[in-house]
Amino acid sequence: MATTTEPTVLRGGEWLLQRADPDTVFTPERLTDEHRLIGQTAQEFVEQEVLPKLDRLEEKDWALARDLVKRGGDLGLLGVDVPEAYGGVGMDKVSSLVVSEKLARSASFGATFGAHANLTIVPLVLFGSEAQKRKYLPTLLTGEIIGAYALSESGSGSDALGARTKATRQADGSFVLNGEKMWITNGGFADLFVIFAKVDGEHFTAFLVERAFGVKSGKEEHKMGLHGSSTTALILQDVKVPAENVLGEVGKGHKVAFNVLNFARFKLGAMCGGGAAGAIGESARYAAARRQFGQPIASFGAIKHKLGEMVVRTYGIESLLYRTAGLVDARIEATPHAPTDGSAALAAFEEYNVEASIAKVAGSEALNFVLDENIQIHGGNGFVRDYPAERHFRDARVNRIFEGTNEINRLLIPGMLIRRALKGDLPLIPAAKALQDELLGPPSLPSTTDEGVLADERRACDAFKKTALMVFGLAMQAYGQKLTDEQEVLMHLADIAIDVYSAESAILRAQAAAGRRAPRAALHADAARVFVNDAALRIEATARQALAAMVEGDTLRTTLAALRRLLKVTPTNTIAARRRLADEAVSRGGYPFA
Ligand SMILES: Cc1cc2nc3c(=O)[nH]c(=O)nc-3n(C[C@H](O)[C@H](O)[C@H](O)COP(=O)(O)OP(=O)(O)OC[C@H]3O[C@@H](n4cnc5c(N)ncnc54)[C@H](O)[C@@H]3O)c2cc1C
Repeated sequence: MATTTEPTVLRGGEWLLQRADPDTVFTPERLTDEHRLIGQTAQEFVEQEVLPKLDRLEEKDWALARDLVKRGGDLGLLGVDVPEAYGGVGMDKVSSLVVSEKLARSASFGATFGAHANLTIVPLVLFGSEAQKRKYLPTLLTGEIIGAYALSESGSGSDALGARTKATRQADGSFVLNGEKMWITNGGFADLFVIFAKVDGEHFTAFLVERAFGVKSGKEEHKMGLHGSSTTALILQDVKVPAENVLGEVGKGHKVAFNVLNFARFKLGAMCGGGAAGAIGESARYAAARRQFGQPIASFGAIKHKLGEMVVRTYGIESLLYRTAGLVDARIEATPHAPTDGSAALAAFEEYNVEASIAKVAGSEALNFVLDENIQIHGGNGFVRDYPAERHFRDARVNRIFEGTNEINRLLIPGMLIRRALKGDLPLIPAAKALQDELLGPPSLPSTTDEGVLADERRACDAFKKTALMVFGLAMQAYGQKLTDEQEVLMHLADIAIDVYSAESAILRAQAAAGRRAPRAALHADAARVFVNDAALRIEATARQALAAMVEGDTLRTTLAALRRLLKVTPTNTIAARRRLADEAVSRGGYPFA
């Protein structure tokens, strides 16, 4: 299927060094009819068929979970990322994003669906042999068999390559697996597992393992949330796996694991964005209906502040998600490949792995914020089970833990950017040097070429990028190879990078809305303005802490003076802007940009 994204393709991480044109950035407002149709299908499925049965899922009715996956198969939702030649619907990544957002209305079923579609079907499509695809994809796509992905073990979660599960090679070429996997989504009822084990205790490898080969499930975990999804250990005792069930190559399991995670992290971010937008609707409707002191609580400034901020953070994450999906699609489209060849998608997700980690971290944290405020707006009703707010809150907490914890993803963000810089793929080092010269020279006049909507914010975002470069450059200078040991500095760098990408994505989307004279263009501008205003405060605080750890005395004073010069961002009236956004959410009874 053709995508509508523009051909200008920034490479991964390049947004840190250069500006993008609003016309080249994909936004939710540019969805095609085809995107909207698959979104509507997913939404109706969840609203009409999943949500009414949530209690049964939470009572662990796995026959129902299987039926619902099957129903997702009937509707084509399982095959969005699968080429038509293999029975899928072969849509673009914007479509995957839209489907993930809609599935977020039921986080438990979203986890079941994700483990099946994103963590089993996708690795099979990307790494499977022709024979493996022909054998397993047809029944996975109809939902007749259910998939699961088993990487983690009790002793190796973040340190996935430290797995102890062993695959012993047999004389006939087959393998015998022994070990135990932990916290496996769909573990209680899946039929086919992507299992990672070390061949002869050394070569990390992915295998396609049928339950019938001898996989046993442990008991269901008692979890804080996601009660409607199955999470169990897997016990592998002398499980014989034929040679042809190696997924990818022996010793190349890390390629399968990490590439799949790039894609899955992005989709998790999408689910978080969708969840946040849905919760804003719940809050807005409750705030309009609930009366205290003789008036709806929605009329109180404190509640407007909450609603407005929920909208702003959701706008930020949504903007970066759509921008990233557009980049991935454009990249895939610009790479000549046969429709059945997954290597273009693989390369595209590798290219945008920094952006995928940003989507995961920013999405899960924005969602946590929104769901916490959703409870607060519901007061006592937020704390009891009569309303969905408490369930959402419990369900969402794990998003910061799985698909790589947010700490691991935060380490990856600057780590991957620096690796690219050192390989010469991203001119971060010369840019940091040029900035150093600029900052040591006489103060330059502010750029006067910017005019029109959000011109100040655009300039502020340029300053954010310079701040990022300044901190990256000094960190590389101060620590050299040892920077990997300085996790606190890396976390600060990640936070600055996340704010740069989110803020710029929000500005570009709002500018595109203004350019089209979209009906809610002024509200788009409000959301972007508030985001940028607060990002400036966060970035300054973060940069100061990082700089003070790296330099001292006169050098620190000079550096802080340069930072102040850079980040001279005039505050905007965020109270008025948040009120407008909150009022719109209340009058629409939902997220204003849906
Ligand atoms: C509901 C649920 C479903 C899951 N589903 C699946 C599934 O389907 N398949 C699967 O394979 N796994 C699954 N997992 C496992 C999940 O991926 C892991 O829990 C996760 O990767 C974290 O690993 P861990 O729990 O061992 O934590 P640890 O790795 O022990 O981490 C503990 C803390 O230490 C931090 N930390 C660890 N290493 C570092 C480091 N180098 N530097 C700084 N901080 C560090 C972490 O960020 C975290 O805060 C699931 C987990 C849950 C809870």
